[in-house]
Amino acid sequence: MRAQQKYYLVLGVGRSGCAAAALLLQRGQRVALCDDQVSFDEAVMARLRQRIAQLSGLGVVELDFAGAAVEVSDYDVLVLSPGVALSHPLVRAAQQAGVLQTSELEIALQGYGGRVVAITGTNGKSTTVSMVAHILSKQQSPCSLGGNLGTPVAELVCQRKLAALLILEVSSYQLEHSPRLSAQITVFLNFATDHLERHGSLRAYFLAKWQLVSNTPSGGVALIAREVAEAAERFLGAGAVAPSVCIVNETTAESSTLGQRAAQRLPHNHRNALFAVHAVKALGVPMSLVELADSLCDFRGLEHRFEVVMSRLGGGEIINDSKATNFASTRTSLACLTQPVILLLGGAKKAGDECTLTAAEKERVCAVLYFGASGQDLCAEMALTEIYTRIFPSLTALMASLVYEASAFPGADILFSPGCASFDEFQNFEDRGNAFKRMVKQVIEEESPS
Ligand code: ADP
Repeated sequence: MRAQQKYYLVLGVGRSGCAAAALLLQRGQRVALCDDQVSFDEAVMARLRQRIAQLSGLGVVELDFAGAAVEVSDYDVLVLSPGVALSHPLVRAAQQAGVLQTSELEIALQGYGGRVVAITGTNGKSTTVSMVAHILSKQQSPCSLGGNLGTPVAELVCQRKLAALLILEVSSYQLEHSPRLSAQITVFLNFATDHLERHGSLRAYFLAKWQLVSNTPSGGVALIAREVAEAAERFLGAGAVAPSVCIVNETTAESSTLGQRAAQRLPHNHRNALFAVHAVKALGVPMSLVELADSLCDFRGLEHRFEVVMSRLGGGEIINDSKATNFASTRTSLACLTQPVILLLGGAKKAGDECTLTAAEKERVCAVLYFGASGQDLCAEMALTEIYTRIFPSLTALMASLVYEASAFPGADILFSPGCASFDEFQNFEDRGNAFKRMVKQVIEEESPS
């Protein structure tokens, strides 16, 4: 055994846990795996060994598998996957035993000599990260994209694919386990209620994200939205925002021109574009803000984010916005539409998320079709007496009636922006969005005269 070898326990064998294990083994460390959801029978262990061997490029790997009665004090370091809450018994035991805790991200970026642009916020992270990468690709500036969007950073490191510039999307789940993560350029896009079931309070959710801003090194640049600065003062007191932090002002004429030049149709993308442009400028790219914004003109949005699936016969569009997993993002998408909207809402509602429509929003919504585990509760909470509503037990049931329901509202847009998590019926928002698109095509084709 090497003198500096430590014994790591990786909790969670999803994509990031496996990548962390592979990288640790590559670095000559000793690794054990454990997971509440996975029982390690022979076949599972063989598959994990093979996957991690492949990722690490080592050929053969020696891994330990810890069962239910794992003794955390047997290990030097506990590596937490993003899905593991701080209330997990092993995390508590590790705290008591003084076992160091870390994350895949911290491990991956240990000793990294390149620069990091880290982007967080409640909504718009993936879009902004992709916008930054889009602008840089026009500059022929090589960069890697990773974190919550795309490939785990440890996987990039393992496979020697990490460029000297990393554009990192970071979620509050990842940040909660990465107290030492620091990036030269940090972006905190916006803040709204989300993930209370995980963080316990809005304050804890905010602090997980804010730590990215407070860890920005001197000489680095932190870009935040005004509402984020306000939340910092509310949760941390006056003076919480250091003078070096840059509050991006969206209301100036320059900002609004930049946002509009860059993001055309979708108003919420104006903010994302504005932050993307400022982040690239902070990297020292020798172009004006206007030129940087113009290089986003051909940016195509991401799948499942306000994605137009098809037009309706006789007018109106059908839009897949499956990534809207909280009500704030549903509202954002609703604000992008001007004609009457048939809104499809439902799934697994997030704790504490207030789902209400303002008077102005109600004017534009002609029908709400609820579905899934929270359909009934959402309908009761929103109490839309003046709007046509229907409740369906599942998305499939809703889709079977969509053509019939929508026929009462010719020309209306159909917005699938569930405002809830997808886990009641689907694996994730991609799975849900793909199912929606498949079913839309099916039902529309069936009704069209051949
Ligand atoms: P994230 O990665 O943070 O989940 P995405 O870029 O994937 O964010 O966008 C998810 C959804 O959030 C979109 O479908 C849109 O409805 C909404 N959204 C995107 N950008 C913003 C923004 N700046 N402010 C509010 N909502 C937004």
